[in-house]
Amino acid sequence: MADSAAPAPAPDPAEANPTIFGRILRGEIPCDQVYADERCLAFRDVHPQAPVHILVIPREHLVSLAEASPEHAALLGHLLLVAAQVARQEGLEGFRTVINSGAEAGQTVFHLHVHVLGGRPLAWPPG
Ligand code: AMP
Repeated sequence: MADSAAPAPAPDPAEANPTIFGRILRGEIPCDQVYADERCLAFRDVHPQAPVHILVIPREHLVSLAEASPEHAALLGHLLLVAAQVARQEGLEGFRTVINSGAEAGQTVFHLHVHVLGGRPLAWPPG
């Protein structure tokens, strides 16, 4: 029997109003998947900025890197290892990983994601 005195869990706003990546994770929107495991999903960007442009996203909703805390250390490490793995899978010798955090930095989807870019020379500094 439910304990009526127990406080109800706080609703997760990401559940009620998911981002486009949340909807991909729910299977509501298709994606061109290249890798998946219990903690993350990787798929091709719909507007590729390089011949290879893959996004690695955690299944857990995190708005951005700025919202991450020490409890996310293992997950963040895992996302980077998966980024390197998909780059290898794509045959890239060199590649760039990018995490845009906040609108000012160019973040448009507010579900943490690692961009993996490669297949052409990449200039530095980035724009
Ligand atoms: P950012 O600007 O860092 O937030 O990156 C968001 C990225 O998500 C952009 O490069 C978009 O092209 C990409 N994107 C948006 N919607 C989709 C989608 N449905 N499937 C794949 N990539 C997407």
